[in-house]
Amino acid sequence: MTQTAFPPPAAEPPLFPEAASAKKPGKRRRGRHNTVIVSVLALLLAVTVGAAYWFLEREAAGLARQAESADTLLTQSEGRVADPATRQALAEQLTAADDVLDGTAFVDRLPGQAAEATEDLIAASDGVWASMVERARGDITTGRDQLEGAMARAEKVYAATESLDGDELTRSALRSALDSAEVTHTRTRDDRLAGAALVQLEQAAGDLGARRAELSSTTDSMISAQDAATCPAPDQLWTPESGRIPDQRLAPVPWDTRYRVRADILDSLIALNDAFRAQFGTDLTVNSAYRSLADQTGLYDPSSPIAAAPGCSTHGLGLAVDLGGGIQTFGTPEHEWMRANAPAHGWLHPGWAAPDGRVPEAWHWQHEKSPAETL
Ligand SMILES: [Zn+2]
Repeated sequence: MTQTAFPPPAAEPPLFPEAASAKKPGKRRRGRHNTVIVSVLALLLAVTVGAAYWFLEREAAGLARQAESADTLLTQSEGRVADPATRQALAEQLTAADDVLDGTAFVDRLPGQAAEATEDLIAASDGVWASMVERARGDITTGRDQLEGAMARAEKVYAATESLDGDELTRSALRSALDSAEVTHTRTRDDRLAGAALVQLEQAAGDLGARRAELSSTTDSMISAQDAATCPAPDQLWTPESGRIPDQRLAPVPWDTRYRVRADILDSLIALNDAFRAQFGTDLTVNSAYRSLADQTGLYDPSSPIAAAPGCSTHGLGLAVDLGGGIQTFGTPEHEWMRANAPAHGWLHPGWAAPDGRVPEAWHWQHEKSPAETL
């Protein structure tokens, strides 16, 4: 009975799965398949996510490297670009890159975003590089122009100091500086720098500035040395132009065309003459005006202070006149009138020519454009 009440289980658990499979093949096989598929899918997902994460981090690492070199470029390009807006653009791209790098992969940063930021940084960096090249080429053009100006002045001084018994050492230093300047001028020609790298261009611009500074300072030294040798009086100034003013820069005095002054001051002399004639009824008596170097050499007597040495006189600049008709004597109505009225027209009686000056010369009048030392 008991045995009947508790019959043995109809089916005992299989001892081996194979046996169970054999009993219920369809359902068991499907379950196992699903597990494998899920596992494979999970694995695939893990691999995919891992690969994507690795890819994102690699992109970010590339961006970080580009940002580092862009940061260096931003620092080094300060004051070296033609267009400061290119540096501003690079700074903006750097900020954008930092924002991308600060974000978390998948959450804030999507595939391609870092790569795009890297491309933007490269483009902005290229813009800065190009602007640095443009700046260097511009500096070279300016530097060559300025060097040419310094060379022209130096050549003029070199020629004007020939056989003047000045300082021969300074004069040979001037020749050397001129020769160096010519070498640099040739080396920095466009065709010589056609394919030059930025560093070479910046070097060339620096060389041009250095040669110009050297040449200008040597030219100044030569002028000072010549001034000391030729025009020792403090109110005299040696100038390479003195007695060498080109004819086209001189104009004859209309009421006495034997005499010439610098063309740009003729109107002031005419106005002074008009005022003088209105007062005294006669034109100004001109006894001397511009003197060429040969004129001055003919007048110069080393034993007399009256005529300055060649190269020292403001007559050689076309800025001085010697007047008569009463003006040549201190205290006359004509001289006193001149003292009171000539300055309004730009004409002055210099201190050295005053009654108590180094060489009292009532007749000598100079235009206010004369070098300050001589007034
Ligand atoms: Zn004079």
